[in-house]
Amino acid sequence: MNALSSPANDAALDALIVGAGFSGLYLLYRLRVRGFRVRLFEASSGLGGVWQSNRYPGARVDSHVPNYEFSMEEVWRDWNWTERFPGSEELRRYFDHVDEALALRADIALNTRVTAARFDDTQALWRIETDRGEPVLARFFLPCTGFASKPYVPSTLETDRFEGVAHHTAAWPLDGPSFAGRRVGVIGTGASGVQIVQEAAKDAAHLTVFQRSPVTALPMQQRKLAEADQHEAKKDYVEVFRRRNTPPGSFYDIDRPEKGAMDVSDEARREVFEAAWQKGGFHFWVGTFNDILMSETSNRTAYDFWRDKTRARLRDQRVADLLAPTKPPYPFGTKRPSLEQDYYEAFNQDNVALIDLHTEPIIEITPSGVRTSARDCDLDILVLATGFDANTGGLTQIDIRNAVGNSLGDHWSDGVQTHLGFAVAGFPNMLFLYGPQSPTAFCNGPTCAELQGDWVVSCLEHLRANGFTRIEATVEAADRWTAHLDDLAAGTLLSRADSWYMAANIPGKKRQLLNYPRTDAYLELINASAAHGYSGFALS
Ligand code: FAD
Repeated sequence: MNALSSPANDAALDALIVGAGFSGLYLLYRLRVRGFRVRLFEASSGLGGVWQSNRYPGARVDSHVPNYEFSMEEVWRDWNWTERFPGSEELRRYFDHVDEALALRADIALNTRVTAARFDDTQALWRIETDRGEPVLARFFLPCTGFASKPYVPSTLETDRFEGVAHHTAAWPLDGPSFAGRRVGVIGTGASGVQIVQEAAKDAAHLTVFQRSPVTALPMQQRKLAEADQHEAKKDYVEVFRRRNTPPGSFYDIDRPEKGAMDVSDEARREVFEAAWQKGGFHFWVGTFNDILMSETSNRTAYDFWRDKTRARLRDQRVADLLAPTKPPYPFGTKRPSLEQDYYEAFNQDNVALIDLHTEPIIEITPSGVRTSARDCDLDILVLATGFDANTGGLTQIDIRNAVGNSLGDHWSDGVQTHLGFAVAGFPNMLFLYGPQSPTAFCNGPTCAELQGDWVVSCLEHLRANGFTRIEATVEAADRWTAHLDDLAAGTLLSRADSWYMAANIPGKKRQLLNYPRTDAYLELINASAAHGYSGFALS
């Protein structure tokens, strides 16, 4: 008999996981080790999650080595990176290595998209449908669909009539077009936009960048990594990953700052900012002072430091005013600060032009390119770096229905509600990772996958040990958790930006904070729930 089955449903899996990124693969590995009968369905043709779909030129991670990898020794022992911030291609090779090290593939069906899932109350089982093969039954449905599985393109940017080549960054083909000698347009200046602008500026005949709001991009401080150095560093990796996965959690080498920006002298503050700047990566975003995202005054000191550093790299006054305005367009850090290598220098080149969509909005995409309110830009290649229906799109694009036929999409039509960012009231036996109302995009991806994954594995073991076949978030607990996130948003500057953290990038989506801003506080709360027999959940 299966670990969690009864004679009536011997054919059912204990758990069906959706998605072969960090979250789904970690769950598969851990649940298998603990003796659960589990399978994983993945829509794309390989392992690695976002790194399978984000293959655009310049795609790379913003978390520095060795934060962005699994903590299991059998994985890191024989793996070395070539760069401090690895690119998409190297990340895909890493996931092949993960597969070899953990022998995962036997339980994974690739090229298999989950299209629908419905809970059967009488058997307490999920019936899961895919775009190929027979439906499967599983006691637990574990979507690990990531926060960026559903690309977003505004309706004004329909490219049907465009006669050149147009791709969203998350649907870039492996044999995608070369920019060399071509007229390229990039719409959007978020993380993917920054990365692709840097590449296109190198050899495009002409590059036009369409900017809605400026990104506060931070210096990546990229460098090559030698194998010998990593061999040496691995002597400390057990401790490194212990630190990464314990509070404050996320990055092993970015501690939660103890002081506020105004608690120190101007000179001391500048020294802290400068040191973080030189370290590169997200140190300047989250590693300087503890009130940067709370206090407007403190936030302004970070913005001004960033602005002055950035403007010093720009030659043209008009371009500087657009890319690094004198006054902050939104509080620093309330939109994700991408990492850059030579993004700002690109705008000093003669072949690069910047269009401000506030003063010159896009009217339509024409057969020959982009028509703005002021001009026609003829293009050979159009890049849509327009982001994602973040946090919820991966879940709601599956037709997930509870026992009475209500869909998750409808359930969330007036706003997202979860308990602990794991479960939805009315949808029993469904637990998701890296989803809305958990730290997700505020937490380093693999850290979150492992911390949330461990919680889910412990939860399923608890159910098994106590003979429970059903777990469901209570309505009261989901109400409380959602109100708690609203309070957190009100207490920070995050609610002041039209960001995807606030669900503000998609028309019609309720404006609410969708990611839990403190991983350490989140960990305390989820562990407290577990310690109290999974408070906020009904077990039966
Ligand atoms: P994902 O990696 O998103 O994996 C989800 C998987 O689910 C995908 O493979 C998808 O194909 C699959 N899937 C979705 N729907 C279905 C379905 N219906 N049926 C079957 N399969 C399905 N995070 C960081 O911490 N640091 C970074 O620097 C960073 N950089 C990023 C850069 C880009 C361009 C993007 C898009 C994201 C970045 N992230 C970064 C966030 C990233 O999502 C996480 O790091 C990590 O990938 C989360 O892993 P996951 O397994 O939860 O989700």
